[in-house]
This record gives sequence, C-alpha cells and structure tokens, in this order.
Amino acid sequence: MERSDCAFCKLPEKRIVYRGEYAKVAYSLWPIENYHFMSIPKRHVELLSELKPEEILGIFEAALKVNEVVSVLNGTKYFNTLLNQGPAAGQTVPHLHVHFVPRLDGDLKDSPLVQVVRGVKLLFNTTSVESAEPLKSELDFIEELVTDPTGGVRNVIPGMGNYKKYPELIPKREEDVMKWTDETRKVLREKAIASQSKVPVR
Ligand SMILES: [Zn+2]
Repeated sequence: MERSDCAFCKLPEKRIVYRGEYAKVAYSLWPIENYHFMSIPKRHVELLSELKPEEILGIFEAALKVNEVVSVLNGTKYFNTLLNQGPAAGQTVPHLHVHFVPRLDGDLKDSPLVQVVRGVKLLFNTTSVESAEPLKSELDFIEELVTDPTGGVRNVIPGMGNYKKYPELIPKREEDVMKWTDETRKVLREKAIASQSKVPVR
C-alpha cells in the first residue's frame, strides 16, 4: 500500500531513474558520493523480512541496470551496497531502500570528519600547552582511522573496518562466533522438525 506521508511512495516521476517490476531506482537527494543511488521496493515496507523473495530479487535487478550505467558515468565499478533496517540502524525514511554508493580510491581523504580532525590539529599546533601533546597523536590516529576505506560497510560502527591493522580495537571473537553458530543451527533444526510434524518441539 502506498503511504501518503512517505517520501518514497510519493517520489516524483522526475526523480525516478529506472522503474522495474518490483522496484524503482532514484538518486539520493543527499548523496554521500557522486551518483549515489537507491533501489526502492514498490511496496511500502520497513524491513527486508517483510518482502517476498521476488521483490528482493526485483530490488537488485533494477539496481543492476543503473549500476551498469553509473559505472560508465562515474568511471568506477566499485560500490558499497548497504541497507539500514530500522531506526536503531539509522534508517531515516521508513520505506526500505538499498543504497549503492560508488567508490573511488582516496575518496575519504576530505570527508567532513577528517576536516574537523584537521581543524583541531591546526588549532593544537598553534598552542604550546604540553598537555595537548598526547591529544595530537590521538588526532593523528583518528585521521588515519577515518581515511581508511578497508572493511567498507563494517565502518557503520565507526573505526571497526580494519580488523587486520587494528586487532586491539576489533578483537577476534571465535568463541562467540561458535556459540552463535550452534544456537542458530539448533533453532533452524527445531524449526525444520516442527514444520514436518504436528507435535510441538520444545
Ligand atoms: Zn513508502
């Protein structure tokens, strides 16, 4: 169902780049990179789990048509592809959409956060206060961290992208991983058994 209060249900025709059977594609009005586009399911849903498999496929089919053109226009075949599900994940328009952000080498070097860090560093360089010294190296570290594209979407938790370079920030958690794997397998097995039987599984 279309929602009259939803920006994506009511997307003006002039903004629509491509329309597929299940999804439409438009450029973000607040692009974080040139040609940053979104593939939006026709149906108003907030979460991926509310879509049928053919609708999910439709989102990617539509996106790939535009992806191919953007690769030529923007001169890169590299993208971050991501979707935010729910307010806790930072979703601002409650109509699911998948972002496609074209990426170029070194494109983080002038990002807003880097500019702030550089500004503060300049300020510190004009002061001779000794207590500023440890902060200067902290700022160098932050600049290094936020200009490093390694890990891509892992950086939605800022600084968590490069687990190889910063193992102290992002420790390996094999024990937890095995626990989650066992738990998940157990529930999946129970669900499979339950679906084959009328006897409730405990
Ligand atoms: Zn909507």
